[in-house]
Amino acid sequence: MKILAFETSCDETAVAVVEDGRRVLSDAVLSQADMHAVYGGVVPEIASRKHVEAIAGLAEQSLKEAGITRAEVDAVAVTYAPGLIGAVLVGLSFAKSVAYALGVPLIPVHHVRGHIAANYLAFPELKPPFLALCISGGNTLLVDVRDYTDLKIMGSTRDDAAGECFDKAARVLDLPYPGGKPMDDLAQQSSGGVYALPRAKVSGCDLDMSFSGLKTAVVNLAHNAAQKGEALDRAALAADFAAAVSGELVPRTMEAAKRAGRSVIVAAGGVAANSRIRGDLERACEREGCQLYLPPLRWCGDNGAMIGAQGYYEYLAGRVADMALNAYATRDISE
Ligand code: ATP
Ligand code: MG
Ligand code: FE
Repeated sequence: MKILAFETSCDETAVAVVEDGRRVLSDAVLSQADMHAVYGGVVPEIASRKHVEAIAGLAEQSLKEAGITRAEVDAVAVTYAPGLIGAVLVGLSFAKSVAYALGVPLIPVHHVRGHIAANYLAFPELKPPFLALCISGGNTLLVDVRDYTDLKIMGSTRDDAAGECFDKAARVLDLPYPGGKPMDDLAQQSSGGVYALPRAKVSGCDLDMSFSGLKTAVVNLAHNAAQKGEALDRAALAADFAAAVSGELVPRTMEAAKRAGRSVIVAAGGVAANSRIRGDLERACEREGCQLYLPPLRWCGDNGAMIGAQGYYEYLAGRVADMALNAYATRDISE
């Protein structure tokens, strides 16, 4: 089954063709990051407009690269939530029109389910159940993936997402947007151990997390140093920051896996590219005897192929939509 998949939830316009949820026939991604970098973050209205300009051309390109005609498309999958509402609406409206015109099923896909499914593309043997650590620009979730479309949240951030926190910290260190990768690179230049950063305590669910205090601590350190005219060890701060974020994520991931009775752990989302987090996950899984799947870097960030992968399993579960399908800025991954 060949699925034409659309992803426009943030600042990447992406269209892919995926066969049977696992085989990528084409994967066209157009990032707008450069356009938003001058503003230090994604400007929603600009994102929507750029998606409108790019999507038709990318769809043609994706079909051409897959070497298939429109008539060979068996279904259309699309990110319908969560994301910037105007941006999601562009992809959704376009996908609806394509599904309608071709007379094929329309499959709604939750964006973070897509991030998890990116692992199905990289690892043919990977099947649920497993515990997923989903860390991206707008989401930080511990998810028990009981089956392809049966997901249960075990923990989540109470405030900022991990990626958002990396981006904000990068900004005060004068690094370009998006700041996750530059922060990662800067952190490589130091072994850290210089700055004591706060550990958040979250009452209620001990698998829930909080990152806003960490973000504020970095902002204050940078501002205080600037005010006093003191030099900031930026590389050490980046290293200590990555260690602090990882220190929130990795132990809770191991604990969630234990509670869910899972010995397979899967990382997903843009922040899963972080080298400190990847290394800490590897060591923790080795120690606990868990099997770890780390997505290749090309599948960490937003792409259309991951939507095509998850779309296949949504389709098999009978989760198709009609033309009344709406877009949502927020949506529970377990719905
Ligand atoms: P969401 O998936 O929650 O809707 P999004 O789609 O904007 O948000 P992704 O594309 O999955 O997020 O990931 C982007 C985030 O990943 C950004 O915050 C970026 O800074 C971060 N990121 C990318 N590479 C790294 C890295 N090496 N270390 C840390 N963070 C990183
Ligand atoms: Mg992006
Ligand atoms: Fe994403």
